[in-house]
Amino acid sequence: MSFKYVLTNSSNSYIVAIMNKVASKKANGYNEFFKEKCRESNLKLTPQRFAVYQELLKSRDHPSADVIFRRLRKLFPNISLDTVNRTLLTFYKVGIAQIVEGSGVPKRFDANRDQHHHFRCISCNGIIDVYGDSFDNIKIPEEIKRQFIVMNKTVHLEGICDKCRGKPR
Ligand SMILES: [Zn+2]
Ligand SMILES: [Zn+2]
Repeated sequence: MSFKYVLTNSSNSYIVAIMNKVASKKANGYNEFFKEKCRESNLKLTPQRFAVYQELLKSRDHPSADVIFRRLRKLFPNISLDTVNRTLLTFYKVGIAQIVEGSGVPKRFDANRDQHHHFRCISCNGIIDVYGDSFDNIKIPEEIKRQFIVMNKTVHLEGICDKCRGKPR
């Protein structure tokens, strides 16, 4: 489940605790979503695929294929980086997971289906989920609307994260 970093003036730890509670209730919904997507895309539900999805789901850091691979190797000693990479790209193709915009190389993956945006730390390359109504409600300029059909709006923020803020760069 993705870590929720809520933009709010109230106590962050309190909000995070609440969001995690909501998240655990939603875990079932995510597994149903996963099974449904596999069914409609004729994707065989293998233990390895399920494990890759579970690992992505519980990762809070928008991991790359390599990171997922290293975490899963303890459970599945025979799994290869290539398998994990292909699995994640398949998840992206069928809409099970997203690739984080602007994450560059290696690609970073995301299974969080709530409407959210990203903050990327230019120091540690951490990618943090951010939430905000004002981001969700950004108005598309008329001239862009005339030219394109906009189906998705994501705000991408960059800067220094709270962990790196105090450290010398
Ligand atoms: Zn950082
Ligand atoms: Zn995210």
